[in-house]
Amino acid sequence: MSDYLINLGKNKATQMPLKALGVSIPVELKRAQKPWSEKELEGKTVYIGGTGSLSSIVSQIVEQTGAKMTKSTGEESRVNALVFDATGITSIDGLKPLYQFFHDNIRFIRSCGRLVVIGKEAPEQEDTIAQVVYQGLEAFTKSLAKEVGRKGATAQLITLSNSLLTNEAQLSARLKPTLTFLLSDRPAFVSGQVFRLSDNVIAVNEPKLAQPLAGKVALVTGAARGIGRATAEKLAAEGATVAVLDRPEDEVESQKVADAIGGKVFSLDIGKEDAPEKLVAWLKEQFGGVDIVVHNAGITRDKTIGKMPEHFWDLLISVNLTAVVRVTEALLKDGLRDGGRIVCLSSISGIAGNFGQTNYTMAKGGVIGLVKHLAPETATRGITANAIAPGLIETRMTAAMPFFTREAARRLSNLGQGGLPVDIAEMVTFLSTPGAGGITGQVIRVCGGSLVGA
Ligand code: NAD
Repeated sequence: MSDYLINLGKNKATQMPLKALGVSIPVELKRAQKPWSEKELEGKTVYIGGTGSLSSIVSQIVEQTGAKMTKSTGEESRVNALVFDATGITSIDGLKPLYQFFHDNIRFIRSCGRLVVIGKEAPEQEDTIAQVVYQGLEAFTKSLAKEVGRKGATAQLITLSNSLLTNEAQLSARLKPTLTFLLSDRPAFVSGQVFRLSDNVIAVNEPKLAQPLAGKVALVTGAARGIGRATAEKLAAEGATVAVLDRPEDEVESQKVADAIGGKVFSLDIGKEDAPEKLVAWLKEQFGGVDIVVHNAGITRDKTIGKMPEHFWDLLISVNLTAVVRVTEALLKDGLRDGGRIVCLSSISGIAGNFGQTNYTMAKGGVIGLVKHLAPETATRGITANAIAPGLIETRMTAAMPFFTREAARRLSNLGQGGLPVDIAEMVTFLSTPGAGGITGQVIRVCGGSLVGA
């Protein structure tokens, strides 16, 4: 748990004055403690409703993953999750059951519970009602996320492409891992997001939930500390062999990470001109190639544009953007195996912009452009490319923020707190699995439902 929560949430001396000031104490989020298992949802109770044709497939997924289904909710039968199949909605009147279901059941959701709505993908522009329904569902789910946030609970929308809806084997292969992930304790800091599933990328028919990364090689840049370190640890816990990359001056820290997870260190300044070439050669020599690439290394050099020295701009762009593009290009040519996964660390400020961060937001917006451009191109090789946009995550980078800016960023989210590196690590790890083959070209925010750029 973060120091912040220990200090403010648990410490009775600080709770009292905070409560008197009307400041709410955020709920301690429940997080997964063990690696993925085939019975990932063991111990959870799920209530399924809706008007679509997915009730049997959703029930099967819930049962296969160890959860109990219930046919009602109440004071004595509180649930961990509510799932609504909205794929059958074809009119404005058809939206009413959505109201009824959540109106009747939302108060019986447990602390840190999960709400998931499943709908159809955003349709062609000319299909007016379908477009109305899709956009309506997205806004509805984001509102649910705001209403349950103070309970530490989250709400997400899954959309299914039309071709996926008619392809039963692939539908289950893609829906099962994503729905299981969203109903589990893993996406503790993911709130109000849309997960768009399609069959654009060739994917494994029955992906395993347990040890999904066995036999895979993962590269994590900036893995000596913070989000990179947590990500390296998670990927290894799910079976991957991890290449721990960080700057030469951080080699001692990198080695500690690698020793703890059975990984290998590569000390390299990723921003240097010859870094892509050296990295490809090393990966090929050590592992014959790589399956998962996590572009995590990043720096900040904040100043308003008028006061920003040129070297702030140049250094930041070289590490946070140029290196990501050049390393990706080099690995796509040689080294990244078919069925691979590319995950880039963006930021919510790369979506919204931020005062004093023109360089940083430029780079973080740039990597979103990269994954959107790459996704259709790499689909034929079974490779997905996605970006994760963290909100405020408690690391060395954010410890350097001014106190009031940091405190406001914590409060301006559905969950009323900052996230932990492990929250990003869980999202990266899920996107790196074979089961996440339905998700590509997307930007997933892991921000607790931050107001920034929402
Ligand atoms: P951090 O400073 O704790 O860790 C970043 C790591 O990158 C460090 O180990 C550093 O040595 C490494 N690195 C920096 N320059 C490098 C280079 N040239 N070559 C190799 N390694 C290099 O930061 P963090 O908070 O863990 O952030 C990780 C990523 O997440 C960054 O890309 C950051 O922009 C992004 N992010 C973080 C937050 C947050 O709230 N912490 C929010 C949004 C986005």
